[in-house]
Amino acid sequence: ERTVQRIAAGEVVERPASVVKELIENSLDAGASRVAVSVESGGTGGIRVRDDGVGIPADQLEAAVAEHATSKIADIEDLDRGVGTLGFRGEALYTVGAVSRLTVRSRPPDAEAGAEITVEGGDVGDPRPAGCPEGTTVEVDDLFYNTPARKKFLKRTTTEFDHVNTVVTGYALANPDVAVSLEHDGRETFSTEGNGDLRSAVLAVYGREVAEAMVDVEWTPDLGGDDDDNDGSDNDGSDNDEADPAVRRVTGLVSHPETTRSTREYLATYVNDRYVTASALREATLDAYGGQLAPDRYPFAVLFVEVPSGDVDVNVHPRKLEVRFDEELAVRAAVEEAVEEALLDHGL
Ligand code: ADP
Ligand code: MG
Repeated sequence: ERTVQRIAAGEVVERPASVVKELIENSLDAGASRVAVSVESGGTGGIRVRDDGVGIPADQLEAAVAEHATSKIADIEDLDRGVGTLGFRGEALYTVGAVSRLTVRSRPPDAEAGAEITVEGGDVGDPRPAGCPEGTTVEVDDLFYNTPARKKFLKRTTTEFDHVNTVVTGYALANPDVAVSLEHDGRETFSTEGNGDLRSAVLAVYGREVAEAMVDVEWTPDLGGDDDDNDGSDNDGSDNDEADPAVRRVTGLVSHPETTRSTREYLATYVNDRYVTASALREATLDAYGGQLAPDRYPFAVLFVEVPSGDVDVNVHPRKLEVRFDEELAVRAAVEEAVEEALLDHGL
């Protein structure tokens, strides 16, 4: 049975970045205002996520690392929450504990002392008292030590760290009200202030040159009366009606056309506050720049798209971040218009 558990875990926990993603989700679910991520050797040498959230009472530590530990059963029906975590709900700590040496150390703010529990390759130890600050610290060492087949698939340290960095960056930009930091082999990669300002989070993550080249995107559908203002918003062949538009809002930041990089990885897109990859969103963003981008150059973008939750399919693949839209044409049109307007507003 242990073997079955390990194989299943190997399917779900792909690499250090998948562990980091689950641990950050847990910290945010716990209402943390600070989340500090620290990894060694791209995460293959150790992962630590510390938060200042509600914590786990000592008598619930065992349950937290057990199978189906979730305190969020109600959410199982809620597919909106499922992006990238489906099949993993209530089982992240359990699953990670099956393929690593896991320590969860926690102290709820009202508790006098902290406690910790350790899981080694699925063997759960006894909870014991431990000194720790308020909040929760999760440490994952020796990932895949007992699943050599999975371990073999790990890439070079720099590649694994790139994946970790992408995940942590994605959450940092999506949660500017949370102070998110990332450290690799003892060196700080970035640290956001958590002051609620997206531009300040961009400054922390991408640096001053990029932050200063970003312009605000703020778009809502034109719902006014008969649609004769020929803004094109309702002429895209979709059946969106004005009472429930296919896109409710597009916000965020995009860069000047001359502030670019040679890869698309700086086009961060979110649907209903979940980090996603959707070629429709990227292409619509690039289309908005028209011919202004140099060949093979891509802008920076942090775009939040709000659509009715029933109009987006987040279950294209349980572990991937792809989504599909019912009203793809309307979504494309809205994003393109939103970015175009933002650039025009700044004379770009
Ligand atoms: P899920 O998040 O889907 O409930 P997990 O295995 O990720 O399942 O976590 C199990 C449980 O452990 C959570 O429901 C929560 O009660 C508790 N937990 C995990 N991480 C934290 C954390 N950082 N702060 C507070 N509680 C946590
Ligand atoms: Mg979780």
